[in-house]
Amino acid sequence: MHLLSLTVPFYNESEAIVHFFANVIPALEAIPNMRFEIVCVNDGSRDDTLQQLVAVSERDPRVRVIDLTRNFGKEAALSAAIDEARGDVIVPFDADLQDPPEMISLLVDKWREGYDVVLAKRANRDSDSGLKRWTAAMFYRMHNAVSEVKIPQNVGDFRLMSREVVDALKLLPETRRFMKGLFAWVGYRTTVVEYARVERVAGETKFSGWKLWNFALEGFTSFSTLPLRVWTYLGSAVAVFALLRAFYLVVRTLVEGVDVPGYASLATAVLLLGGVQLIGIGVLGEYVGRIYFESKKRPVYLIRRRHEAGQEHA
Ligand code: UDP
Ligand code: MG
Repeated sequence: MHLLSLTVPFYNESEAIVHFFANVIPALEAIPNMRFEIVCVNDGSRDDTLQQLVAVSERDPRVRVIDLTRNFGKEAALSAAIDEARGDVIVPFDADLQDPPEMISLLVDKWREGYDVVLAKRANRDSDSGLKRWTAAMFYRMHNAVSEVKIPQNVGDFRLMSREVVDALKLLPETRRFMKGLFAWVGYRTTVVEYARVERVAGETKFSGWKLWNFALEGFTSFSTLPLRVWTYLGSAVAVFALLRAFYLVVRTLVEGVDVPGYASLATAVLLLGGVQLIGIGVLGEYVGRIYFESKKRPVYLIRRRHEAGQEHA
């Protein structure tokens, strides 16, 4: 029988855990001809998430708990869960039940039809505010316009991947892991299943506007160098304009003689160019900063302890 690994990051999900196991375990048991394990990663929670998870894992050997040394962020926690998973198929899943557990069975059906990747696509975003929906749409549109690797619209981390795909994913060496992009990068035979995403079952979202903004920047800089290259063209355009204007000014001075107006236009040009140059340096900085972090080759996460029924590893 094949083994399915449900990989779940938990960060301060104390209130959601009861609901999580109550819904997910029956849904997984209902999948025919499939054993399962639930790989729970505690991403440095400050509430009693860890204690609750360990208690469940002591009762149920199918539940494994990986405790990270601190909060490494969702991407790192998900990487940890995927690295630890032993299944033939791996399904990343959120702790808050925003993705219906009954869907997993449908994903497995598609995998049995021969697909390596089965994406779960949100048919609606009713659970998100208007602003979040708009910014998300903008993000996908802009990202896909500038990146070679296209991220499918409205597809979160919830999906099914075969062992082959996950092994390929593990070969990617970057330490700053924009998972959506990495998932898309590896390719493989892919199909899409639609579903309705619902509200969080309990607790609240861990992603503020600022975090999402930085997440989007991470996406752009991980998969595109267009923001770096655009300055060459912008600079060239400004230089050509400046040359033409210089030529015009020389000719005008020869024809009409010297005059000294133009304080306003000078000041505007200086300020505008100064601003444009600072933006260019800022973009450069984004990339240099990321090169700096990558060059350290620090591990993506650190594990404090693995909890499994009957055995405890350091
Ligand atoms: N999460 C995590 N580490 C973090 C932030 C979030 O492991 O630093 C987990 C969280 O517990 C949940 C999943 O990532 O299982 C998605 O988080 P959330 O539901 O807050 O995100 P949203 O659905 O609002 O995008
Ligand atoms: Mg959520």
